[in-house]
Amino acid sequence: MTDRTGPPAAAVTAPAEAGATPARAAGSGAPRIVDLLRLLRGSGRTVGAAFALIVTGTVLGLIQPLLTMRLIDRVSAGEAIASLVVMLAVLFLAQAMLEAGGQYLLDVTGENVVRRLRRRLVERLLFVRVQELDSRRIGDLLSRVGTDTTVLRDMVAGSFVQLVTVCLTGVGAAGLMLWIDPVMFLVVAMTLVVAAVAVTGVMVGIRSSTEQALASVGTMTADLERVLGGIRTVRAGRAELREAERIGADVDAAYTAGVRSARLGSVVGPAIEVAVNGSFLFVLLIGAVRVSNGSMAVSELVAFLLLATYLVMPLAGLFSAFSLIQRGLASLGRVEDVLRLPVEETANAPANATALPPVTGAPVLLDLQDVSFSYGERPVLRGVSFSVPRTGLIALVGRSGAGKTTIVSLVEKFYEPDGGRILFDGTDIRGIDPRAHRARMGLVEQHAPLLHGTLRDNLVYAAPDAGEERIREALRMVNLEELVERLPDGLRTEVADRGFSLSGGERQRVAIARALLARPELLLLDEPTSQLDPINERELTDALREISRERALLVVAHRMSTVRAADRIVVLDDGRVSSVGTHEQLLEKDPFYRRLTTDHLTRSATDRSAA
Ligand code: ADP
Ligand code: MG
Repeated sequence: MTDRTGPPAAAVTAPAEAGATPARAAGSGAPRIVDLLRLLRGSGRTVGAAFALIVTGTVLGLIQPLLTMRLIDRVSAGEAIASLVVMLAVLFLAQAMLEAGGQYLLDVTGENVVRRLRRRLVERLLFVRVQELDSRRIGDLLSRVGTDTTVLRDMVAGSFVQLVTVCLTGVGAAGLMLWIDPVMFLVVAMTLVVAAVAVTGVMVGIRSSTEQALASVGTMTADLERVLGGIRTVRAGRAELREAERIGADVDAAYTAGVRSARLGSVVGPAIEVAVNGSFLFVLLIGAVRVSNGSMAVSELVAFLLLATYLVMPLAGLFSAFSLIQRGLASLGRVEDVLRLPVEETANAPANATALPPVTGAPVLLDLQDVSFSYGERPVLRGVSFSVPRTGLIALVGRSGAGKTTIVSLVEKFYEPDGGRILFDGTDIRGIDPRAHRARMGLVEQHAPLLHGTLRDNLVYAAPDAGEERIREALRMVNLEELVERLPDGLRTEVADRGFSLSGGERQRVAIARALLARPELLLLDEPTSQLDPINERELTDALREISRERALLVVAHRMSTVRAADRIVVLDDGRVSSVGTHEQLLEKDPFYRRLTTDHLTRSATDRSAA
């Protein structure tokens, strides 16, 4: 995973990722503790070192009561104790340092776990099928990458050390107690079993409220993301308070779940406390009796009481470890849910499986044959057939909602048709690697987004090795040279992440230049001139005509000037092709087209003067 710049590298790393996803079959229920341990894969050495330090520290801790026992014996016998005191002090210090070192290593492990998970999540998300992302709340996905991984980090850093310490101390202390006085050990053990059973019951409840809390945080993030993304509409609608209230409800839901788990947790604390103090009192009473009748030494009672606290006190730690683990399990479920999202088949195919069939040079480049499609229940495309020749400008027109963008999505293989075939250069695209397929096409989305980086980065996005000459040429075609001159750093100007610094029309022209630069065989343009002024639109239409001499252009058009410039027009009426032809032919034969041109297609000033 060193080279992550080029697309082939991504295609190569992706299958490894797919192999690394949890072995459990998709949807086979909630993760278990073993799945948490699997997170530590790759940190084996650090975890081993951490445990070695912690185990040593714990053992040193267990020696202390024995030394104390010896100390009391020596005091009662009137012997010197200086060396024992020094030994005890050294033990304290050594224990503290070993445990601190172990904790540090576990913290580092936690950070590594987060890093690995986030990298996997990010890579996965970028390969997940568009269709899957369309149906999910992006904000919720973000909260899984951000929040849930953090929960897992805290669990790794916080719970394992406690579990190990508690178990070791518990077993060690129990052994020593058994050795000192088996009868009294039984007394302590019974109280503990009762406490443990009660705690386990509460844990289950805590896990479910944690899952609810995390889900609410996911909803909150998703809603907030949407609202901030559309803040202008929110403000214009004076809906700030309403939105704050709505998102506040998610916050409240997280609160309710949190309080519920706090309430459950608060039961555990006192229960443990009662068990601890009860057993302590019990040990003290029985111990006092046994000391008075001579069956136990005072030093043994002191050591025993110390050991009893060793056994019982960590119960609180055990409890917090368990609640961390419960939360970790809830978060791991949400993270694995993302890691299981279906990726495009390209991500699972070796990089060299992308070979395309040889170019045939046939006159028809793109051929839709009886294509039908529905998003869920409602049919959107019904038996759509038309073709795009190797060169020339084909316009796709229709009312909004007719399915034009859907056709573009199918041609790009973002979605698969339910019926019919789409042939590219004579081959059904169904069996073709989507990334290789997309390399032959350029796409200008309806809402042309700018991605991060400089204007230049945005232009060469699909053609990283395009030279200065080609960039200038593309800029000239979309009439953007003037903009570049106006920008403070020219092509090196950072264009804001969401393109706020550029107008809609400028953004659109950047997107077109980007698509042109890749010199694709087929250019897909989805309403590319919707935000352009008539002059720019006219010039762009001329440029498109120019380009269409060498390559195929499929333009979803809603402006008359583009439509009239087309070699052929495909008219889409509610998911069906109503007719195909030139502007003049269609005016004559298709009444729907006539209505469309008068009512729907925007006529710009230049059109009217030309008409
Ligand atoms: P056009 O681009 O012609 O305006 P679209 O292809 O975008 O139309 O949409 C066609 C129909 O499909 C519309 O009714 C739209 O509501 C619906 N649609 C578009 N995208 C989705 C989607 N991701 N999920 C569900 N329905 C969708
Ligand atoms: Mg559309």
